[in-house]
Amino acid sequence: MAKYIGPVCRLCRRENTKLFLKGPRCFSEKCAVSRREYPPGQHGTRRARGRSANNYGSQLREKQKARRIYGILERQFRTYFQRASRMRGVTGENLLQLLERRLDNVAYRMGCALSRAQARQLVRHGHFLVNGRRVDIPSYLVRPGDVVRLIPESREIANVQLAWNLAESSRQAHWLIRSQEDFSARFDRLPTVEEINIPVKENLIIELYSR
Ligand code: SF4
Repeated sequence: MAKYIGPVCRLCRRENTKLFLKGPRCFSEKCAVSRREYPPGQHGTRRARGRSANNYGSQLREKQKARRIYGILERQFRTYFQRASRMRGVTGENLLQLLERRLDNVAYRMGCALSRAQARQLVRHGHFLVNGRRVDIPSYLVRPGDVVRLIPESREIANVQLAWNLAESSRQAHWLIRSQEDFSARFDRLPTVEEINIPVKENLIIELYSR
């Protein structure tokens, strides 16, 4: 599956908000959004002065933010939307819940990686078991009741240890029940929109795709 491999801080600057794509650096003074509060590119400072979006522009930006946070390309994102719109309930909430169910996101939320990109790589390299079976597909959708576990050989990786300890104090994924002993988490239930807590207005994404 293809993925964006360019500079990620540029994405945050384009959206004019922190998307937290780089782990601890995002909380430090080195964060590019704090240091350069204008869009990237040669004419970034000029574009910053005229930064006002029309209706379509705001809808597009919300969609781009969501794509960038979860590290998904356009085609796959649209597929998630189509699936969400066929499900019962509120489409916006369904969409965010589908994104939250991705295995790479669950690995990040449970505290095995400092960023979703890092979690994605761990999944790709086969570091996770879902209900005891190895799964190396980042887009695999975890279901309520599933147990995601880091394989024992990977528990000593320095970044995993750091992320695991940080998660204890910082992350608030109440729908995941973590087990300290074996680096696992049970996906207890689907999270609500409020719990997902990302800087995205999902209703604008739905409006964009409903045009
Ligand atoms: Fe975005 Fe993090 Fe880079 Fe700041 S440090 S611009 S939040 S990816």
